[in-house]
Amino acid sequence: MFCPKCKAEYREGFYKCADCGVDLVADPPPQEELQYVDMVEVFSTYNRGDIAFIKSVLDAEGIHYFFQGEGSAMMVGAGAYARLLVKADETNRVREILQELGFL
Ligand SMILES: [Zn+2]
Repeated sequence: MFCPKCKAEYREGFYKCADCGVDLVADPPPQEELQYVDMVEVFSTYNRGDIAFIKSVLDAEGIHYFFQGEGSAMMVGAGAYARLLVKADETNRVREILQELGFL
């Protein structure tokens, strides 16, 4: 059992963290979120239709990606766009896919 707050591990039979007083969970807390620094920008667009299309393709390919700036009101403003970030080791594959689709 694990405390979701302080990440302390408890033996079976414990249900609350002695320090935090929160309910323990069965699974260990997730590792740190994927850091932006590990991700590479491969594409950027102002076009929400493109974003939706690229997402559906990458989802189908099982690729981890992140659209930075998407959904932000800034997108409507001048010069703002969504940046497609992917894991460094998947960069080449994503570039190939985007090329096939005519985005690059
Ligand atoms: Zn705790």
